[in-house]
Amino acid sequence: MYFVKAPAKINLTLDTLAKRPDGYHEVEMIMTTVDLSDRIGLEAREDGIIEIVSVDRFIPNDAKNLAFQAAALLKKRYDVSQGVSITIEKNIPVAAGLAGGSSDAAATLRGLNHVWNLGLSLDELAVLGAEIGSDVPFCVYGGTALATGRGEKIKHLPGPPPCWIILAKPVIGVSTAEIYGQLDLSTAFHPDTQAMIRAIEEKDFEAMIHGLGNTLEGVTLHLYPEVKELKEQMKRFGAEGVLMSGSGPTVFGIVQQESRAQRVVNALRGFCDEVYCVRLLGDREELPKGV
Ligand code: ATP
Repeated sequence: MYFVKAPAKINLTLDTLAKRPDGYHEVEMIMTTVDLSDRIGLEAREDGIIEIVSVDRFIPNDAKNLAFQAAALLKKRYDVSQGVSITIEKNIPVAAGLAGGSSDAAATLRGLNHVWNLGLSLDELAVLGAEIGSDVPFCVYGGTALATGRGEKIKHLPGPPPCWIILAKPVIGVSTAEIYGQLDLSTAFHPDTQAMIRAIEEKDFEAMIHGLGNTLEGVTLHLYPEVKELKEQMKRFGAEGVLMSGSGPTVFGIVQQESRAQRVVNALRGFCDEVYCVRLLGDREELPKGV
């Protein structure tokens, strides 16, 4: 069995610029990888069948699974005769704004490139990934990047200043389509993407905290007051910067010191079942092998 790590992402910024004629939104997002990962196991099969083996009851185990779609796309496009059994060990909360499904698909593309011996570059895998979902290309590369278009156009950025991330997910799941459906672009908050890029390039922690922003946050906070409450708690307990990731409902906090991160996590435990303290994997040069 060949194992690949599928790490989650958070959005340091998420700006929605316009609704496109094709139904997608034009976005500008700065995404960075965090050290909370699903584990994908890949076992080639000679019968040509693609199979999902997952014990997680919250994700589909058929063609609706994004990892299945990744395998099916590669198999068809490159006329692969072999099949694969894909084992998904799920650690990333589902429907949380952390791109868990997209990252599983991206890891499946990277892993099958090896298992099926296809010899494709990451750039080629990212182009394929865009056919599966807008966040898949970023997840193919990992690290830190500016994503534009519908999210599939990737410009790599250096790693953000060193910090610790606290992730807290309320029990609710949020549908990205529902949040975009309720977004009013004329009144929404728009983060300053260029300022965040400068903060990252200059490794300026204060400027990074100051620049955190997400156009979708207002919609989700209005629909789900528990997310707003969680944000306020995280701030009160000592997080230096706090933002909702993606369309939510996961809220993340940023702190510089590990001891401070642990204090925030401990304080949150009584209020929120799913709390994680993770490091950033924001620098592509430093990604561990297998990610
Ligand atoms: P994003 O941040 O990209 O919007 P998300 O974190 O909000 O994603 P996911 O965890 O990717 O959401 O799940 C969204 C939906 O995708 C779920 O309802 C789930 O049924 C479906 N899905 C398909 N394949 C997977 C997978 N491998 N892991 C998780 N969800 C999957």
